[in-house]
Amino acid sequence: MERWVEETLHRGFRVRLKADRVLFDSDTEHQRLIIFENSDFGRVMMLDGIVQVATKDEFVYHEMMAHVPLFAHGQVRKALIIGGGDGGVLRESLKHPELESITLCEIDRSVIDLCREHFPEVSAGAYDDPRTRIVIADGTKLVAETDERFDVIMVDSTDPIGPGAVLFTKPFYADCRSALAPGGVLVTQNGLPFLQGPELRQSVGYFHEMFADAFAYLASTPSYFGGPMSFGWGTDDCDLRHLRQDAIERRHAEAGAFPTRYWRPDVHVAAFALPNYVRELVEG
Ligand code: SAM
Repeated sequence: MERWVEETLHRGFRVRLKADRVLFDSDTEHQRLIIFENSDFGRVMMLDGIVQVATKDEFVYHEMMAHVPLFAHGQVRKALIIGGGDGGVLRESLKHPELESITLCEIDRSVIDLCREHFPEVSAGAYDDPRTRIVIADGTKLVAETDERFDVIMVDSTDPIGPGAVLFTKPFYADCRSALAPGGVLVTQNGLPFLQGPELRQSVGYFHEMFADAFAYLASTPSYFGGPMSFGWGTDDCDLRHLRQDAIERRHAEAGAFPTRYWRPDVHVAAFALPNYVRELVEG
C-alpha cells in the first residue's frame, strides 16, 4: 500500500510526500522523527510533521545559512550553530579556512545519531572535524550561560513549535546578542514570509530593539513549500549586508573558491533584495 506523509505546519495548507521506503519512524526524547525516501526530494527527514532536510535540495538552505554571514563578516574565527543536528550548516561553515572553532548545540542527540546513519552525505565528516565541538543541550541554556564570544551565531532551528519554540523568543535573542563578539552577526531560520509572516515580523522586530542593523534575506528552498524562505539578520555592523559583489568575490577567492551549488557572490548580494511584501514585515 502507498504511504503518503503529510506536512502539518500550516493551518490551511498542506502538502504530502510519497514515502517510497520508510527508514525510521519513532518518537525521540524530544520529538517525532521520520526518515523516508521520496522520488523527487531524495531522503527526507521530518520532525513533528515538518520537513527538516531533503537530500536533493539541502544545499540551498545550508549554503545560504552559512556562507552569507561568514563571507559578510569576513574574519570569523569562532562560530556557533544552535540546532542544525543534521550537520549541513556545520559542513558548509567548515569550508571557511579562517574558522578556528565551531560549536553545534543540538537538543536532540537522536537527530545527530540518525543523521550520521541515514544522511552521511549531509554532514560529510563535519561532526568529526577537529574544529567541531558538539554540545547536546537546549540552545537557550548554552547562550544564557556561556562566557564565550562568537563572531557568527546561526540559529538553524525547527519552526516555533515544540522544542524549537524557545528559539524565537526575545530573551533567547538577547542572550545571542550578548554571546556575539563586537561586530558579530546573528542569522536565524525564519520560515516562509508568505505563510509565516507574523513570525518573521516578530523576530526582526526584536532585532530592531537589539541591533543597529536588523533585516532578512531570502532563498528559494523547494522542499519548504510556499514561496522563498527567510533568514533573519541582526548585527551592529551596518556595512556587512551592503558589501559589494567584488568584495564577496575576493573573500570567496581567498577562501579557496570552493564550489557551491546555490550560494554565489551575486546571489549573496541579491538575497538582501526583498520584495515589498517581505520588506513590510522586516522594516522597523
Ligand atoms: N533546516 C531545518 C528547517 O528549518 O527545516 C532545520 C533543521 S535542524 C534539523 C533543526 C534542529 O533544531 C532539530 O534537530 C532540533 O532537534 C533542533 N532544536 C529544536 N529546538 C532546539 C533547542 N531548543 N535547542 C537546540 N536545538 C534545538
